[in-house]
Amino acid sequence: MTDQIYWNPVLETLPREKIRQLQLKKFKKIFKWAYERSKFHRKIYDEAGVKPEDIRSFEDIRRVPSVEKSMMRDIQRKDPFPYGDALCVPLEEVAVFRQTSGTTGQPVYQPDTWQDWEWWTECWSYILWAQGYRPRDRVFIPFGYNIFVAFWAGHYAAEKIGCEVIPGGVLDTKARILKIQELQATAMMGTPTYILGMAETAQMKMEIDPSELTIDKITCAGECGASIPSTKSRLEKAWGAKVYDHAGATEIGAWSFECQDQPGGLHVNDALFLVEIADVETGEIFEEPGRRGKMIITALDRRAQPCVRFDSKDVIEWSAEPCSCGRTARLIKGGVVGRADDITKVKGVLLAPSAIEEVVHGVDGLGDEYEVIVDRVGHTDRIKLKVEVLPEAQDQCQLVESELADQLRLKTNLRYDIEICGCETLPRYEVKAKRFKDLRNKPEAE
Ligand SMILES: [Zn+2]
Repeated sequence: MTDQIYWNPVLETLPREKIRQLQLKKFKKIFKWAYERSKFHRKIYDEAGVKPEDIRSFEDIRRVPSVEKSMMRDIQRKDPFPYGDALCVPLEEVAVFRQTSGTTGQPVYQPDTWQDWEWWTECWSYILWAQGYRPRDRVFIPFGYNIFVAFWAGHYAAEKIGCEVIPGGVLDTKARILKIQELQATAMMGTPTYILGMAETAQMKMEIDPSELTIDKITCAGECGASIPSTKSRLEKAWGAKVYDHAGATEIGAWSFECQDQPGGLHVNDALFLVEIADVETGEIFEEPGRRGKMIITALDRRAQPCVRFDSKDVIEWSAEPCSCGRTARLIKGGVVGRADDITKVKGVLLAPSAIEEVVHGVDGLGDEYEVIVDRVGHTDRIKLKVEVLPEAQDQCQLVESELADQLRLKTNLRYDIEICGCETLPRYEVKAKRFKDLRNKPEAE
């Protein structure tokens, strides 16, 4: 089995038309399930005049109203406590509690049955197998196991595959690095921000070169960094390892992964999820490659709190090319490029925070951390960018700064007030970084 290329050789190579048939069949089933068992779902579907027997084609699916995170927030903390009316199973069948990270507001609770949790683990097994995890691997997980789903299912999937798994739980960063060294771990999982931060700690505070450790593959999630070429390249260089991206979400599941061929994008796990891309302004669903829109996604097998046409706000685009790995699952180009509510207009120009990261991590001499603050002086927007210059480039500060300013102008069409900060003075993050601050609508910035 370890020679096998695919985790599920049947589903991962299924001809496209067969995948589409499977998706339609599964969508009908989960839609009926949600309609019949959840007052929350039935109400919004009745209001839109769509019933389970109306779904015969993908065009019919588009008539099913999408659900947003804010709607889930409103129904929770009520009976059946604490999940509210979207719960489709008796409370006693709920086996697992998790919640969203709360980056965009009050956290949403996520109940799963044991069957759902096995499904999460199965989703992650596709990911890890596609990234080369095999039973001989020893996987270190530097994650503070807690109420966020983060790498929990990755942990179980690595065990399911047969890897040896070391939970890095409450250890601090130095202790985690020492454990990797001591046990000769071969793989790990983390946010790109934290994995870069670990490398910095190893180099600057422990005189350990992480590229000389035994880690040969890293799975990143939680932020889009591992799909940003300059960030991926920094990660791979620092650790001397292959770095793979994965995008998932608490309310959805582990829906995508980069494979070992690193095609410059993520496979959507089409056998388990239905991904649609909608125009951000009009909501129109489109299929053509090369056009960006927001993802509307259905988890086709998740049952306790179903995810049916969830408006994720993740901005993605279909790739025109199939992947050389032979998987028939579609690719999204460049991973998740941002969130529809993160992409903001500054001085009338559309700015995605990931574009700034791509530039900062592409300039030699700059540290990994940075901070962006957008505010308004009078009626004019201003962007301040704080960066750190590495000790070895301190005598070339001006050169580094002008290279940064040029690249930013080229890539984003905007000018920035650049502030060079001392080494290791900007905040460090263990899970998701909060580097982009828009103060324009706050009273103190007026
Ligand atoms: Zn592939």
